[in-house]
Amino acid sequence: MTAKLDTQTLRNLDQAHHLHPFTDFKDYAAHGGKIISRAEHIYLYDSDGNKIQDAMSGLWCCNLGYDQDSIKQAVFDQLQELPYYNNFFRCSNQPAVELASKLCELTPERFQHVFFTNSGSEANDTQIKLVHRYFDLLGKPNKKHIISRNNAYHGSTIAASSLGGMKSMHEQTMGLNYVHHIEQPHWYECGGDMSEAEFGLHAAQALADKIDELGEENIAAFIAEPVQGAGGVIIPPDSYWPAVKKILEERDILFIADEVICGFGRTGNWFGFETYDIEPDLVTFAKAVTNGFMPLGGCLVADKVSNVLLNGAGDFAHGLTYSGHPASCAAGLATMAVYEDTGIIESSARDLAPHFNAQLQSLVDHPIVGQVRSKGLFAAVELTDDKAARTRIAPDSAAAVYCRDVAIEDGLMVRQTGDAMIMAPPFVTERHEIDNLVAKLTVALDKTARQFGIS
Ligand code: PMP
Repeated sequence: MTAKLDTQTLRNLDQAHHLHPFTDFKDYAAHGGKIISRAEHIYLYDSDGNKIQDAMSGLWCCNLGYDQDSIKQAVFDQLQELPYYNNFFRCSNQPAVELASKLCELTPERFQHVFFTNSGSEANDTQIKLVHRYFDLLGKPNKKHIISRNNAYHGSTIAASSLGGMKSMHEQTMGLNYVHHIEQPHWYECGGDMSEAEFGLHAAQALADKIDELGEENIAAFIAEPVQGAGGVIIPPDSYWPAVKKILEERDILFIADEVICGFGRTGNWFGFETYDIEPDLVTFAKAVTNGFMPLGGCLVADKVSNVLLNGAGDFAHGLTYSGHPASCAAGLATMAVYEDTGIIESSARDLAPHFNAQLQSLVDHPIVGQVRSKGLFAAVELTDDKAARTRIAPDSAAAVYCRDVAIEDGLMVRQTGDAMIMAPPFVTERHEIDNLVAKLTVALDKTARQFGIS
């Protein structure tokens, strides 16, 4: 390991040379950030020694917290044995083979094939190529259009940011002309006077309407996160997914479930598609597949699609230097072993998630809380200055940004999207640590209410 640099030196070099993701470069160069130097269990430590409880599992990926020696050891051992080789040119490696088999074992029978990438973004780019290839091979080359949803997040590469429905990203990237966006199932934000059930059906109908508008013969796929994560932990009304499922069943359109956040336990089951009883043809995964310890993503492909792809003549013209990297796949295998051997996905859904939800629900009466929603260990708390009108407290999400900043200052790592405080605690969080999370969030909400003059 390189010698430790002191905080000031690190901050200076960081501000001078390091361009950070999703960051205002000018602001960062002027003010800098926090250097995270160490992590243990569910706690982060910055270079000044401050301890911060992580209520976000890193970036929704460290579902098992930061210890997990077996995963670290698996990576170390793999680097000793075979630190790298590619999977091009009729080569393969044991961890990639084993992880592909394991993921097929863990998912419904119809999933028997996996394509590996390094990230969720690349996996969604790959999905576009897979579905285009599928319909080309079926002699339906017009089926190229893809339907996604407003405020979805599918990644940051050009194709993935085009698939996503984030306005700010579209403003900086010329989107793909074959991607279209429909209403998001976000009742709190878009539901107006409709009941949640009515709005769920209305949002689902937007899919049928868009298919009619574009022509089913031109559409390849619908892509969706079971619960939209980065968009604000948007938990759809109960009426939404059954209606979408029916629309898809009646049409010749593939369904890609983006499980990059929902996958591996976040919503209380191994996958979000189980929580909502939906049947994707392709599944995008990343993040918690390695507990965030190594970069890895990929696509699970159901037989309906793979049977056609496997019969196509010629190469699938797509691949990444690190597709199926042995050390990343070794991390993935070790992570699957922890999920399976400890049963933590099941036990945290049974014991921790109800406690988390109950504690959060106690915030509903707080003067600036408009809604609390959660599914498994996935939650959002909406801030408002008018509970009936569901209005935001201040322009540019200033209140939620303030709330987030004071929470972090007080030792709780949470995120903000719009006026929602969002959380995805690690499954290894203990009950008293959930209580601490909610206590710290309450203090941050109190401070925010004071700051914005609401009582
Ligand atoms: N899909 C979803 C649902 C995501 O949440 C993310 C990342 N937050 C991605 C795709 C992109 O993954 P990555 O950042 O690994 O490219």
